[in-house]
Amino acid sequence: MENLKLAYCNECEDLVEYDIYDELIEEEFKGVKISYKFKIGKCKCCNCEVATDIDYNSRKSNEKIEAYKRQTGIIDLNGISEILEKYDIGKENLADIAGFGKVTIKRYFDGFIPSREYSEILFKILNDEEYFIELVEDNKEKLKDVAYRKIISRYERLVEISSSKIDQIANYIITHIGEVTPLALEKLLSFSNGVNYALNGKQLIFEKSQAWAHGPVYPQIYNKYKKYGYKPIDDGIYSTHGCMLSKLSEEEIEAIDLVINTFGIYSPKTLERISHSQDPWKEKRIGYKEDEAGQEVIDEASIKLFYTNHKLNSEDTIMAYIMTCLKASH
Ligand SMILES: [Zn+2]
Repeated sequence: MENLKLAYCNECEDLVEYDIYDELIEEEFKGVKISYKFKIGKCKCCNCEVATDIDYNSRKSNEKIEAYKRQTGIIDLNGISEILEKYDIGKENLADIAGFGKVTIKRYFDGFIPSREYSEILFKILNDEEYFIELVEDNKEKLKDVAYRKIISRYERLVEISSSKIDQIANYIITHIGEVTPLALEKLLSFSNGVNYALNGKQLIFEKSQAWAHGPVYPQIYNKYKKYGYKPIDDGIYSTHGCMLSKLSEEEIEAIDLVINTFGIYSPKTLERISHSQDPWKEKRIGYKEDEAGQEVIDEASIKLFYTNHKLNSEDTIMAYIMTCLKASH
C-alpha cells in the first residue's frame, strides 16, 4: 500500500490528498504590497489551500514577515543571524551591546519586526566592525568578563582578516576544508597562487613565498598558525559576510575553489610530495640537503611559467597532474 500523506481541507471538511505547488504569493501586509515564494498545499478535490504539516501556518507567516522586511529595507533574520555568526555572540549579548532590552533580539526571532531605528543600528553593526567594538566598550559593564574577552579576541581576528588578502584566502581555505594543518595550508596557499596564474594570468598572493625543507611557505601565515603543529587549524571564521572576502575578486575565488576541490582532498604528506616535484621550489633547493632549512624566495615568474605550462586551470587537468606526480614519486 502506498504511504499517502493527508491534510485537513476546510472546504471538503475531511482529510484529503494534496499536491504541493511552488508559488509566488502577492498580498498586502501592513499597507505594503509584498511578494514571496512559498510551497502551497492544495486539496486534490477542491483545489483549496490546505496546511500540509503542523508548522505550515507559522512558516508561511514567517516568510511573509521576512519578505515585508526585505521590501521595506528592515534587517531580516538572515542579517541578524549573520551578525551573531560574524562576531560569535548570542542573542542576549547582541541586545546588550546594541543597547536594546535583553529579550529584543530573541523576540525578532519570534516574529517581531525591528523598528527602523533599531534596524539601522543592526545594519551598522553588521557592516562596521569599528562601530561594533565602540558599542562593546560603551556597554562593557553589561557583559560578563569571559564574554567580553572572547568578543575582543574575535574582533582582533576579524580586523586581521578584513584588512589582509592572504589572511582572507587562508581563512577561506580553513573554513571550507575544515581539517587543514599549518603545513597543508601552506601548500594550498601556494597552489592557489599558482592556479590563479593558469586560470586568470595574475599573481594572487603578493607576499613572498620561501622554499623551506617541507615545501613552499608564506612565513607570516606559517607563524600565525604554527601553534597548531600537526593538528587541524580550528579558528576559521565562517561567514558569508562581505568583509571576509572583500579583498578577493570572483575569479580569484574561483581559482581558490579549484584548489580546494582538487589538491584540498589530499593529505598533508601527499601535498608535500606534490610540492617537492615542482620546479619553482626545486630550483631554490639546489645545494640544500633534504632536511636542511632554507629561506630562499621562490621566483614568481617561475611559478607562473610552471602552472601555465601545465595548464593547471581546470579540475580535470589538475586531477590528472596530481595523478602523474603521485605515480612519479613512487
Ligand atoms: Zn478540498
